[in-house]
Amino acid sequence: MGTTGIRFDGVTVAYDGNVVLDALDLTVAPGEVMALLGPSGSGKTTALRAVAGFVRPAAGRVLLGDRDVTGLPPHRRGIGMVVQQYALFPHMRVEDNVGFGLRARKVPRAGIRARVAEALELTGMAGHARRHPRELSGGQQQRVAIARALAIRPDVLLLDEPLSALDAQLRSGMLAELARLHRELPGMSILYVTHDQVEALTLADRIAVLDRARLRACGTPRELYRAPTDAFTASFVGGANLLPVTVGTGGVDFAGTEVDVDTAGAAAGARATLCVRPHLVGIGAGPNRLTGTLAELQWRGATHRLYVDVSGHRVMADVRELREPPVLGADVTLHFAAEDAVLLPAGVSADDQ
Ligand code: ADP
Repeated sequence: MGTTGIRFDGVTVAYDGNVVLDALDLTVAPGEVMALLGPSGSGKTTALRAVAGFVRPAAGRVLLGDRDVTGLPPHRRGIGMVVQQYALFPHMRVEDNVGFGLRARKVPRAGIRARVAEALELTGMAGHARRHPRELSGGQQQRVAIARALAIRPDVLLLDEPLSALDAQLRSGMLAELARLHRELPGMSILYVTHDQVEALTLADRIAVLDRARLRACGTPRELYRAPTDAFTASFVGGANLLPVTVGTGGVDFAGTEVDVDTAGAAAGARATLCVRPHLVGIGAGPNRLTGTLAELQWRGATHRLYVDVSGHRVMADVRELREPPVLGADVTLHFAAEDAVLLPAGVSADDQ
């Protein structure tokens, strides 16, 4: 294990002439966890299925390590795959479900026993080997599905929204489990399809953002969150204020207010989008002061989210729970530090598409 990465080399997939994956170039390094993040219909599952061998690209190649597998059937690719709906065989005990791929590969019986035990151990399901899927909770069933994928000791593991059928609390527990699993199997490359930014930020070494069949951005979670290069990515990996601005000299103009921000590389007079994360916007006087009226207030337990209308634009601020929050319609002053703002090419948020 440990030498097999995944490479998409100009992979295009079309259904009935409709391009749903457009010349994807992407490399997952050996042992790397790559999240494919994007809205529904952006082509994430299609990309995953192209690696698994369930869809045939119209153009391009899929490589595992230096092996071109584009023409190989799924069972010859040596890949483990877990989908959202578990897809366990209901009439088989857990151990038989987990051993299924090994029997299909004609692994000798003693070898199957050892590998099934190992996979159940890795997923914390060793005590449930004799049960049937119906005797397990949703979370346990998904562990069995993961154990089944791991039993063939794949170099490449594909996960397609593996947590989306679980409730919120289970999801966060399983996220931690997946992170632990990867620490125990560090050589395994993982491609993880999700539309959930928290899953992607938490688990992935890098995130590839897909938007309508195209790769929009690819980088570490921190890069995409702190220094996104386009408005779509900025808003898809987290909450974002995307403010329309005009570039000036040494700053930008937002709705008549001069805002201090690094404008390196932007031409004076150009229209641009200023991205500021809501939790980096504070209330009260400070640098880059914006004034407006409170349009909406949400109490979120530990925090308050304020929606403030500033010259017709909605600005969000997430602040620590306020003892005496302002009332709707009150004048509110906001501020943020220049280094917490990122200037992007003019563009729209993922929410507005
Ligand atoms: P995502 O995983 O990002 O939600 P998909 O890869 O599942 O997106 O789908 C991308 C696009 O391809 C969607 O518009 C979807 O309707 C279409 N699509 C997916 N599978 C098929 C198929 N078997 N036949 C026709 N269209 C499909």
